[in-house]
Amino acid sequence: MTDDLVLDVRDVKKSYEGLEVLKGIGFGLRRGETKVLVGPSGSGKSTLLRCINHLTPPDEGRIFLSGEEVLEKNIDAMRARIGFVFQDFNLFSHLTVLDNVRICQVKVKGVAADVATERAQQELERVGLGDKASAYPAELSGGQQQRVSIARALAMDPDVLLFDEPTSALDPELTGEVVRVMQKLASDGMTMVVVTHEMSFARQAADELIFMENGYIIEQGPPQQLFSSAANDRTRAFLNVIA
Ligand code: ADP
Ligand code: MG
Repeated sequence: MTDDLVLDVRDVKKSYEGLEVLKGIGFGLRRGETKVLVGPSGSGKSTLLRCINHLTPPDEGRIFLSGEEVLEKNIDAMRARIGFVFQDFNLFSHLTVLDNVRICQVKVKGVAADVATERAQQELERVGLGDKASAYPAELSGGQQQRVSIARALAMDPDVLLFDEPTSALDPELTGEVVRVMQKLASDGMTMVVVTHEMSFARQAADELIFMENGYIIEQGPPQQLFSSAANDRTRAFLNVIA
């Protein structure tokens, strides 16, 4: 059944100027599931996430969001339902924290200004930044900026949240606060795909770990199982290095 899948990625392929980066990727995500995607640098993780909302249009394959196919003709509506958290936060520097979290609700979804403000404040509180609403991004630490970017994604009420190495631009002492927010989202039942090297997060929050290499999914399964007894030699070797 595809109906109970929030995200259904089927046989996605992508090449850049003849270099085949995704060679037929498929996976599904049920409501409330968290999957962590790992693999060596260059294995295609970012490309895969970007293909899901056509930031990078796939060459082949199909993607369904809550049963509806993601296509060029509906891409704006689909993007509004797919939250994306990037490595480098991507906040608007000229807007306050509150406006960063409000603005997409108003501009993309047409939410009334006062409703958007209230929702923004709620989401800031959820990530522990209720008192920073009137600050500007430059006044915040990297960890706080990344939490704002998570609040901004949540405020859109997305079907699914995609994270691309959300802590890798942060100083090590700031990763914990972002990881804790993601753990809370996972246990609150958010549906998420997280590319990260934070294996503590994978162990605690992931329903499944997906190991990707060279454009293929090599292995996927519960994190405990992959950490203790991965079937594939390359999965084992990779996890031994990062875990
Ligand atoms: P990962 O996120 O796993 O490190 P990427 O998806 O970023 O991997 O990259 C996979 C491969 O695709 C790499 O070889 C990378 O150099 C190449 N690549 C990524 N983006 C582009 C692009 N816009 N143009 C050409 N090659 C790209
Ligand atoms: Mg990447």
